Amino acid sequence: MSLEIIQDKCTGCGICLKACPFGSLTLEMRDKLGLPPSKFKRVVLVDVSCNLCGACLPTCKFDAMKLDKPEATAPASPTDAFKGIWVYIEQRGGHIEGVSFELLAKGRDLADQRKTELVGVLLGHEMKGQADTLFAYGADKVILVDHPVLAGFDSDAYADVFSTLVKKYKPEVVLAGGTSIGRTFIPRVAIRVNTGLTADCTGLEIDPKENLLLQTRPAFGGNIMATIICPNHRPQMATVRHKVFKKREPDAQRKGTLIEEVMDVKAGRSKAIEVIREMANEINVAEADIIVSGGRGLGGPDNFKLLFDLAKELGAAVGASRGAVDAGWISSFHQVGQTGKTVCPKLYIACGISGAIQHLVGMSSSDTIVAINKDPHAPIFDVADYAIVGDLTEVVPAMTKVLKGE
Ligand SMILES: Cc1cc2nc3c(=O)[nH]c(=O)nc-3n(C[C@H](O)[C@H](O)[C@H](O)COP(=O)(O)OP(=O)(O)OC[C@H]3O[C@@H](n4cnc5c(N)ncnc54)[C@H](O)[C@@H]3O)c2cc1C
Repeated sequence: MSLEIIQDKCTGCGICLKACPFGSLTLEMRDKLGLPPSKFKRVVLVDVSCNLCGACLPTCKFDAMKLDKPEATAPASPTDAFKGIWVYIEQRGGHIEGVSFELLAKGRDLADQRKTELVGVLLGHEMKGQADTLFAYGADKVILVDHPVLAGFDSDAYADVFSTLVKKYKPEVVLAGGTSIGRTFIPRVAIRVNTGLTADCTGLEIDPKENLLLQTRPAFGGNIMATIICPNHRPQMATVRHKVFKKREPDAQRKGTLIEEVMDVKAGRSKAIEVIREMANEINVAEADIIVSGGRGLGGPDNFKLLFDLAKELGAAVGASRGAVDAGWISSFHQVGQTGKTVCPKLYIACGISGAIQHLVGMSSSDTIVAINKDPHAPIFDVADYAIVGDLTEVVPAMTKVLKGE
């Protein structure tokens, strides 16, 4: 598998260099490389960072680039042998995480479109009683593997059990939360069942023509949205962060089928020695209905106190831009955005945040956005429902004062 530069044909024009998103192409003098004399002085070199994306190929007018990619390996079973939409039901300490209900809502839509069943897969211990909740949130079936080893997260054991189930039941689609648990073991499952995985999707649809899962996610630092398909392998696997989709109202009348799988589950090689809950006294932005978020416009760590005061009055969580986190003004626990948390509160108050795309992807689906910024042209105002042009050190305390009734 390689990108080959046909040196006789390369004119050293350098146009392909601009097309390479990874800076993997360079120009070098032919005589330096000991190449035979040519009327062209330079030639293109490919370095090890090339990931064979092929973006450079169409730019070469001289047929001087050749990409050898292996044919896609045939799946173990034909793709149409795979049926059903699966959602991995994430639990922590026997409590089902919100992201699982959100995925059941999206999974329900996908299953209806594909005229297939929606299955929740629950790995845990003594959680049988929670199957009814999963039916109420849209599952047609629940596959439960109950074992003491599965009570807490064990990456090896979870990957073993989940991939065994995938091989047995052959689902068409597998969705899981883009959480620390999902991100740890779901890629291992994808490798074991020989399929692809799209991480941190922000959109999932079924292509009505090909019936493929269209998996949309930010790419190239959030500057473009890429839609990824997995045409040759099954299942089509995707992770989605918390709050990207909305959960539906539960219907307590809905009934479903519980399948209890009995397995010999072996504990993995690693063991959790201690669990330390970070910021136990603070509201987690990923769960909050109201967020007061601060950026570099705060000017320093001390002004976060203004946000905590306002948040206290509103019963809100405090969020932050990466700018503020990287400056060391607040911990990454609070970071909202592409490399932080995706949030979807009822109210998001952005204070001194410019509105970079990497921040917007994490919060722009909030119901109501209020932005406070002293620059009237700040991009955050493009997504804001209410724009307050002003100095946050005056505006935020004024808001707190009103809420306190002072
Ligand atoms: C791969 C990658 C991933 C990233 N992931 C994230 C992410 O997850 N989350 C994230 O937030 N960023 C992320 N970033 C960084 C992002 O590109 C921006 O650099 C960052 O969001 C800027 O933070 P900021 O808005 O706080 O700072 P700035 O861009 O510096 O904006 C500060 C704003 O404050 C305003 N201001 C200044 N003083 C005041 C005042 N007194 N009152 C009111 N307004 C004032 C200014 O007008 C300005 O608009 C990522 C970048 C990359 C490359």
